[in-house]
Amino acid sequence: MARVVVVGAGLGGLAAAARLAAGGHAVTVLEQSSEPGGKLGRFARDGHAFDTGPSLVTLPQVLRDLFDATGGPLEDAVDLVRLDPAVGYRFADGTRLTVPGRFEDVPAALDEALGDDAGRQWGSLMERAATMWRISEGPFLRSPLAGAATLARLARRPSDVAAIAPWQSLRGLGSRYLHDPRLRTLLDRYATYSGSDPRRAPAVLAAVPYAEQAFGSWYVRGGLHRLALAVLDRAVAHGAVLRTGSTVRRVLVEGGRAAGVELADGERVPADVVVSGVDAAALHDRLLPGDGRTRGVRRDLGRATPSLSGVVLLLALRGRTPGLAHHTVLFPEDYDAEFDAVFGVGRHAGRPVPVEEPTVYVNAPEDPALVPDGDSESWFVLVNAPRHDPGRGVDWTAPGLADRYADRVLDVLAGRGLDVRDRVRWRVVRTPADLERDTGSIGGSIYGSSSNGSRAAFLRPANASPVPGLFLVGGSAHPGGGLPLVTLSAQIVAGLVGPA
Ligand SMILES: Cc1cc2nc3c(=O)[nH]c(=O)nc-3n(C[C@H](O)[C@H](O)[C@H](O)COP(=O)(O)OP(=O)(O)OC[C@H]3O[C@@H](n4cnc5c(N)ncnc54)[C@H](O)[C@@H]3O)c2cc1C
Repeated sequence: MARVVVVGAGLGGLAAAARLAAGGHAVTVLEQSSEPGGKLGRFARDGHAFDTGPSLVTLPQVLRDLFDATGGPLEDAVDLVRLDPAVGYRFADGTRLTVPGRFEDVPAALDEALGDDAGRQWGSLMERAATMWRISEGPFLRSPLAGAATLARLARRPSDVAAIAPWQSLRGLGSRYLHDPRLRTLLDRYATYSGSDPRRAPAVLAAVPYAEQAFGSWYVRGGLHRLALAVLDRAVAHGAVLRTGSTVRRVLVEGGRAAGVELADGERVPADVVVSGVDAAALHDRLLPGDGRTRGVRRDLGRATPSLSGVVLLLALRGRTPGLAHHTVLFPEDYDAEFDAVFGVGRHAGRPVPVEEPTVYVNAPEDPALVPDGDSESWFVLVNAPRHDPGRGVDWTAPGLADRYADRVLDVLAGRGLDVRDRVRWRVVRTPADLERDTGSIGGSIYGSSSNGSRAAFLRPANASPVPGLFLVGGSAHPGGGLPLVTLSAQIVAGLVGPA
């Protein structure tokens, strides 16, 4: 039995804690904030409740595996419901598209909304994407990152390399398969699931819509934050201890290996194994400064483009919106202008700015647990935004900026047919600076580093650090961000540490 310290009670840290505690280790989770969950957070006031981070569960099998491995089925722990329809889209030309929740129903819905050939175009892209998924799932997503060995596993057959097309961007792939510009916009959006720019993200990200449509879009009744609490329950049931209000300031290294951590108040917590669930850049810059063995990791982190961030509006609304889907996405006329603004490229080269005409994502769960009465709604509204970077980019703490921008988002929503301005009881605006402060993610990046560039997946730190006894979980480490991948990182780490 090893003494394990997990730093951070985000989903990555909690999932690692649950698996390692179930494996017989003595686990302590140290969390800086007063609540567990990290980005998988919750806000509630006056009967309105909101998830502050994730609103969509994909790849539920990954969660099922976690729960099965730690004491019993996922369905015993949370009420997971499959969404059908999955999402409603509104395009700038006025087209509305409702994507069904079942893979086999998608082509007909595309034909109906976009015209006759749309279903065929999307279907042939999804065939290619299914192959990409099969090639990358086991050797990449579910396996430790091992440099050349990982590349060799992925490139076992020339036909696999051709299918993945590492030289091609997601945008390039879309242009080959999709002749309808609205379908290309739809595909582009999946780059943002890893905080990336479709013009620079690799074609293999087409596996994301494939996995979403094939395995479904899901919701946790009561809010997704319940997932964090359920995973914590599993960890605690196996003897793990959560200490909130415990900020780790240093990873201790003795005799060349990780030996525990030091808290902000000076307390030392000794351990045989340290699992870091904090932002990898923060770990290396602040908690483990100057260790020569991690020079390569720092270099790679420096080469990667950080993921985009987001501005969130939590809207407590009076009245109800007829016919609104659980998820609604309202696209702008010029999607590229959004990526230029967010990443500071193209017409905003070197100068990221808040997006003037952003894509707006509205999450309006029909869930009595989230509203004070039947004549109210609790909306989570998200737009992509540049990271908080007062030195070289946007200073999201600048006086008045957050409120002005929230007004702008409400105006954009109104312009696209969802005017709720006179129904707002109150609102909470959360900027990238808030995300940075609350979760320790540098600049408020949602997903650690982005997938921009063909080598991006290999620039994320591996789950086993070069410092023996130190492991990395969470969205900024391999295999990347988003709930399912973060959960997989914990599975990989539990495998690397092994049972007691
Ligand atoms: C607005 C938003 C929308 C999203 N939407 C989706 C979605 O729909 N679907 C999806 O799958 N994913 C989504 N994501 C991404 C998903 O939330 C993340 O990938 C995932 O929750 C990250 O988990 P994590 O464990 O890596 O990190 P985090 O949740 O960031 O956890 C890190 C934890 O470490 C703690 N910590 C940091 N530093 C220290 C320290 N020094 N000492 C102690 N504790 C520390 C933090 O307080 C935090 O609790 C979204 C994220 C955001 C922000």
